[in-house]
Amino acid sequence: MDHGMAPQADGKLRDPRYDILFQPVKIGPVTSKNRFYQVPHCNGGGYRDPSAAAEMRRVKSEGGWGVIFTEQVEIHHSSEITPFIELRIWDDDDLPGLAKMSDAIHSHGALAGIELAYSGANGPNLYTREVPLAPSHTPILTFTSDPVQARAMDKQDIRNLRHWHRLAYRRAKRAGFDIMCLYGAHGFGIIQHFLSPRTNQRTDEYGGSLENRSRLLKELISDARDEVGDTCAIAVRLSLDELAGEAGFSNAQLRDLVAMHADLPDLWDFAHGTWEACSGTSRFKPEGAQEDLIRGIKQLTPRPVVGVGRFTSADTMVRQIRQGLMDFIGAARPSIADPFLPRKIDEGRIEDIRECIGCNICVTGDMTMSLSRCTQNSSFMEEWRKGWHPEFIRPRQSESKVLVVGAGPAGLSAAHKAGLRGYEVALAEAGDELGGRVSRESRLPGLAAWARVRDYRKGQIARMANVNVYRGSALTSDDILAFGFEHVAIATGARWRRDGVARFNLLPVPVSSDIPVLTPDDIMAGNHPGGRVMIYDDDHYYMGSVLAELLIQRGCDVIFLTPSTRVAEWSFNTLEQGAIQARLIEAGVDVRITRGLSAIERDGIVAQCVYTGRTEKVTCDAVVMVTARLPEDSLYLDLCARQAEWAPHGIRSVKVIGDANAPAAIAWATYAGHRYAEELEAPPLGDALPFRREVANIRD
Ligand code: ADP
Ligand code: SF4
Repeated sequence: MDHGMAPQADGKLRDPRYDILFQPVKIGPVTSKNRFYQVPHCNGGGYRDPSAAAEMRRVKSEGGWGVIFTEQVEIHHSSEITPFIELRIWDDDDLPGLAKMSDAIHSHGALAGIELAYSGANGPNLYTREVPLAPSHTPILTFTSDPVQARAMDKQDIRNLRHWHRLAYRRAKRAGFDIMCLYGAHGFGIIQHFLSPRTNQRTDEYGGSLENRSRLLKELISDARDEVGDTCAIAVRLSLDELAGEAGFSNAQLRDLVAMHADLPDLWDFAHGTWEACSGTSRFKPEGAQEDLIRGIKQLTPRPVVGVGRFTSADTMVRQIRQGLMDFIGAARPSIADPFLPRKIDEGRIEDIRECIGCNICVTGDMTMSLSRCTQNSSFMEEWRKGWHPEFIRPRQSESKVLVVGAGPAGLSAAHKAGLRGYEVALAEAGDELGGRVSRESRLPGLAAWARVRDYRKGQIARMANVNVYRGSALTSDDILAFGFEHVAIATGARWRRDGVARFNLLPVPVSSDIPVLTPDDIMAGNHPGGRVMIYDDDHYYMGSVLAELLIQRGCDVIFLTPSTRVAEWSFNTLEQGAIQARLIEAGVDVRITRGLSAIERDGIVAQCVYTGRTEKVTCDAVVMVTARLPEDSLYLDLCARQAEWAPHGIRSVKVIGDANAPAAIAWATYAGHRYAEELEAPPLGDALPFRREVANIRD
């Protein structure tokens, strides 16, 4: 890959107040070069896309992380979490893929960590068809409520489990890993199932007292020392609080455990309770939300402590270290949004940090078993597939000039990346403000951090002499033909529909003109309904619930009606669904599920049961339609109609990108902008796939 263009380097040095972040820290027999610790995170690729996952971690090594972990690695075939796609170390066949990962992590001096997972009551074994094992007889506790139970382990099962761990330690060492971390957090790992009195109801020496419940952990760690402890560090990842009250493995019990086994592992890695709590979105959790739960734990142990909290601010990181809260800055999402975060702090380039916005689109890659993407870092998981890089891009192909129309996330990304390639770029925006939908939506309740999508790109573009921004420039096809740029990207966005069309209604519904019917665009433009307002949500992501919060704040009575069985159904994939539904209930919103919209009349709507088709009248004073969107593509269509005039005006290509092409979430728009710049003047691919992939080895 040609990394021709470097980011602007102005020779700045690290601010001495951040020196503490770059101190080496010893972890058992190994030493991390600094305090930046990429905690394990899924990526939706796992065993299906080993090279893509390895290259993603290699870029983080290049970006300066001291420790870089795999996602969870299933140690034995008797415990796996199909349909979710993670890694496996079941036998030697898994080692080449894992070795590729550890090599990639080592490439720039990071320590390679492997998270060893035995899922127990969390693994339904849908693929291997083995009977799951757990401390006690328990239903399988997954997102998918599978009709499977785990069997309570007997003493032989426990001996087997220790043996399987020994095999995993040996193999992980052969695959080149420096740190072995036992996964006992988020309710996902068997260690937590043993520690928690909720899931461990045993009456033998592995149940009852904390000493007994921690016996398995103690045995697994001493076996690890025996197998690999001379060269590899042994860590454990635990939840700070199971979030099940005193019946569960509480924060107080965790503190007792750390005090009881203070020097048992070489490092303590602390996550929050459930995954939903640990990876809360910025709508629900601020940076450093776990601070109260972790404070004081480091003082209970001589071993280094890792904590997380969506840390993107170098000052917050320094404070966490100085106040003795932790020794390592743990990060998953901040390392996804900006794999070069440590290096940028080190090089005094704080303003270049691409801060995570806390949207959890990355998590949706795992939840949908696809490949993770990131709203802020479009190259995430495309490093190997497409050869994209978060910081570098190959130089321009020619001296052609590029016009980007529309400065939403798609237009900003296209202009930024084309500018980085060295093209002369003009970015024309109709309004006075850059950011498009990101600017509008970031003013809604809870979404302020989303403005970082705009601010990062705006900041980068402002320092590029070859990118010029023109505000207040609503361009027409006449303007564009007259300018004669060789390449034109149309990124003019989309608008919300008013006619009820989305999933429940694929055709428009009858709408009375005697009642106010608004769209999210109207509300974001400052037009507010009053009185009893019906929000009809057939979009199923965040917008309907965010508007419900806004209208409640403005004193409206809000009815939230949706054809789905849950509020904001898709936000299950961003781990927010429960929090959103709870927030609406607490705010006094009248939630009505499994109801579609069949008509809007002068004094309310006609709702239809999605199961029986029965209708009922619901009265209201105004309706807000959170349904589908339509591309703002008239400028593009105009230009297409005048294609014969392109060449005489010097235009070689006109492309439509982002929401103007097909509306989707913001991550799709930043991706479309990045892709436009990557593919600008690239040779046509013909029938070839636009990405690399790995296919399974076929065996007899
Ligand atoms: P996307 O998510 O695809 O980037 P947005 O709706 O966020 O789309 O942004 C589209 C931007 O394009 C808006 O800021 C809008 O003001 C701008 N825009 C729309 N039409 C024109 C036009 N004809 N000329 C210049 N800018 C335009
Ligand atoms: Fe952060 Fe969103 Fe990127 Fe995930 S997808 S790393 S939450 S910006």
